[in-house]
Amino acid sequence: MTTTLPGGFDLAERHGVRNYAPLPVVLSHGDGAWVSDVDGKRYLDALAGYSALNFGHRHPALVEAAHRQLDTLTLTARAFHNDRLPAFQRDLAELTATEAVLPMNTGAEAVESAIKVARAWGYRVRGIRPGAARILVAGGNFHGRTTTVVSFSDDPVARDDFGPFTPGFDRVPYGDAAALEAALTGSARADETVAVLLEPVQGEAGVIVPPDGYLRTVRQLTARHDVLLICDEIQSGLGRAGATLCTDLAGVRADLYTLGKALGGGILPVSAVVGRRDVLGVLRPGEHGSTFGGNPLAAAVGSAVCALLGTGQYQAAARDLGAYLGERLRALPGLTAVRGAGLWFGCDVDPRLGTARDVCVELARRGVLAKETHGVTVRLSPPLVITREELDVLVATFGEVLRDLGTH
Ligand SMILES: *Cc1c(COP(=O)(O)O)cnc(C)c1O
Repeated sequence: MTTTLPGGFDLAERHGVRNYAPLPVVLSHGDGAWVSDVDGKRYLDALAGYSALNFGHRHPALVEAAHRQLDTLTLTARAFHNDRLPAFQRDLAELTATEAVLPMNTGAEAVESAIKVARAWGYRVRGIRPGAARILVAGGNFHGRTTTVVSFSDDPVARDDFGPFTPGFDRVPYGDAAALEAALTGSARADETVAVLLEPVQGEAGVIVPPDGYLRTVRQLTARHDVLLICDEIQSGLGRAGATLCTDLAGVRADLYTLGKALGGGILPVSAVVGRRDVLGVLRPGEHGSTFGGNPLAAAVGSAVCALLGTGQYQAAARDLGAYLGERLRALPGLTAVRGAGLWFGCDVDPRLGTARDVCVELARRGVLAKETHGVTVRLSPPLVITREELDVLVATFGEVLRDLGTH
C-alpha cells in the first residue's frame, strides 16, 4: 500500500523503512513555535521534537552560533584537540553545577556511556566481582533504542524479537521507594548493585511524575548503600520541567546525569554524561569514545544552548507557562487525567471519545501538532518560547477536538 501524503509524497513509502507511523503532515519550514507544510499550511508545534526543540525552531542565537562554526571548523575527531570542546565542557559543567562532562551525540549513547562508566566504577572503585555489576532501573522506563537499553525496557513493542538481551539489570516499580529499598537490601545481589538509573519524570511513559519525596528518598538510599544515582534528564532537563535539571525541583543531586535532546538546540544531535569527576574519571584513554562526540560544531551549538539557559529565562517560562497551561487543560472536558511538570503534560483521553492517536490526527488537521503515547495519552511539550496567546490556540483547538469527538 502506498499512501500519498499532502504534497504528493510517496517516496517515503517507496524507499523508507516503517519504523515510525508519522501523522500525515509533510513539514518543510519552521520558525519559533510554528512549522509549515509543503502546501504552506501553518501548524503550532506542541511537541517540539520531544523537547529537542525547547528553544523553538531556528532560534536566532543558535543558528548564528552554528553558522559561525560552519565557516570555521566542523569536525576533527577526538584524535586531536579542538578549540571549542573545552569551552563547551566548562559551560555545561557550570550550567549544571557538575564537575565533568563526557560528550556524545544521541541520548541512547549517553545512557550507554553512563552504564559503562557505572560498571567500571563498580569494579575499579567498589571492588565488585568481575562481571557481576548490577544496575536497578524503573518499570515503564524509556532510555533509548540500543540493544542494551531495550534489554531493561518493559515495553514489548520496544523489546520483542530484539533479544538476546544484555544481563545485569533489575527493574523495580517507578515511584515506589520501598520497592527500591528492598532491592538494595533484601536481594541476594544487593551488594553488587552499582547504580540506580531513572528518569526524574518519565516522559515516554506518559509524563509520569513520581510521588513527593520519592527522589529524595532514592538519593538517601543510594548514598547509604554506596550506589550511584544516575538521572536520565535527556527529556526532563534543560528547562522543560521548569528548572535546569528536573532534580533541582526536588532539591536532589544525582551522581551522573544524561543530557541530550535540547542540548543540540534543535540543530544537531548533542548529548553528554555530566557529573562527579571521580566517577567519570574511571575512564582511561581508548576505553570509550565516539567519532562525532564533542565535535566543534556540536560544541559551539552546545555552548550557545548553555548561554540561553544561563539566563534562567527559559526555566522561568516553563514554570509560568506550565502553570497556565495546566490549569486550562484541567478544565477541559473529555480528559480523564492531566499530569505535568513545567511546560510538559500527559493528557489521558476518555476512551469513549477515541484513542489519543485519533485526537492527534484531528489536532493536526486543525493546525496543532502533538503526539500520542501508549494509546490513551496525548503528550504536550511545546517549545519554551511559546506565548500565552499561542497556548490559548492550543487549548481552544484541543477543546474543540474533544468536543467534536464526543458528539459523534
Ligand atoms: C529521547 C530519550 C532518550 C533517547 O534519546 P535518543 O537521542 O533518541 O537516542 C533517552 N532517554 C530519555 C529519557 C529520552 O527521552
